Amino acid sequence: MPAVAYVGLGANLGEPRQTLSEALGELASTPGILDCRASPLYGSTPVEAAGPLFVNAVARVETSLSPLQLLDALQDIENRHGRLRPYRNAPRTLDLDLLLYDALEIDSPRLVVPHPRMHQRAFVLKPLTDLTPDLVLPEGRALDLLAQCAEQELWPLLN
Ligand code: AMP
Repeated sequence: MPAVAYVGLGANLGEPRQTLSEALGELASTPGILDCRASPLYGSTPVEAAGPLFVNAVARVETSLSPLQLLDALQDIENRHGRLRPYRNAPRTLDLDLLLYDALEIDSPRLVVPHPRMHQRAFVLKPLTDLTPDLVLPEGRALDLLAQCAEQELWPLLN
């Protein structure tokens, strides 16, 4: 049985929409990714980060990759898009986060899943619930958590 994982995508430098669409294509064609469905794209103001507005999306993947293999694949895609890490939360050409991997809870030096801040971020919760409205996180129903982020600015981007 493949695992079901969710990946958060964000970009706020260069051509963010183009970058996200390329990254989604690369993710979908990664060996071991058996199915990939993307949410609509959203614009958001930076949360705990500097620089221009973000473009965000979430992808639901079915995968035969282990969590660390999937993280490796995500970091390869980030690196191909010239991700630099000059300092924490710096503006980024592309940020890929492993949000959820089945119902696994992982707390290792390289990987923390569920992603520790996802339950507080509208730019994750809105596209996540577009894909899977009845999703439940350890902190509660994703739709209820989203309702608690109402003050965070987020808007749908037209295709
Ligand atoms: P960032 O620069 O914010 O993208 O953070 C990247 C670092 O976070 C990498 O060193 C990863 O090993 C680590 N990390 C821990 N948990 C996760 C996760 N769930 N998804 C992506 N990166 C993670």
